[in-house]
Amino acid sequence: MKNVGILALQGGVSEHASMVESMGARPVWIRQIKDIAPVESDGIIHFENTFLDAIILPGGESTTMWKLLNLFNLVTPLRTLISSGIPTLGTCAGVITLAQDILNKQNGQESLGVLDIIVDRNAFGSQIASEEVNLDTTWGSIRASFIRAPRIAQLTENSRAEVAATYKGEIVCVHQNNIIGASFHPELTGDTLLHEQLLKKI
Ligand code: GLN
Repeated sequence: MKNVGILALQGGVSEHASMVESMGARPVWIRQIKDIAPVESDGIIHFENTFLDAIILPGGESTTMWKLLNLFNLVTPLRTLISSGIPTLGTCAGVITLAQDILNKQNGQESLGVLDIIVDRNAFGSQIASEEVNLDTTWGSIRASFIRAPRIAQLTENSRAEVAATYKGEIVCVHQNNIIGASFHPELTGDTLLHEQLLKKI
């Protein structure tokens, strides 16, 4: 059975876990380094022996997520693993956390910098402007929920990312080798399209 690690510091963790389970894979909560890979007593982490086959960064609040990633020393382990090519899906706050750079970020907020895009937080308005729509993507149609969603303002120079979906003239989903990033929440509508793509990459 494939192990899909879900960053479980805050946000929509259980929704992603239910999706993963319904697709016959095992959701694994990532809260500490030892959830990712074996750690020796001298602190050396064996990323090559990771327990995980894929990673999901859920939606939530990217500012809080960043603080907690630092608090639990997960920034370097996640960066290393994702850069080494593990299949990764980031949704909403998750795609913000994966991005190369962030517009409208809070003081002290940074990101993993593994996805060659610049995101713009809260670009589709406030919570009451949230909506559920059908979107066309590279892989087919998806039912997508937008909640205080970021737009992908641009691909970086020499970006390896490709646009996978747009909404209201803005990029809202990209694909870059092992990484899929979406501004919306597929886990809230139960649409498995992006999760299927993630599992296919394993
Ligand atoms: N606006 C949130 C942020 O900046 C993201 C919202 C979400 O994940 N639904 O992190």
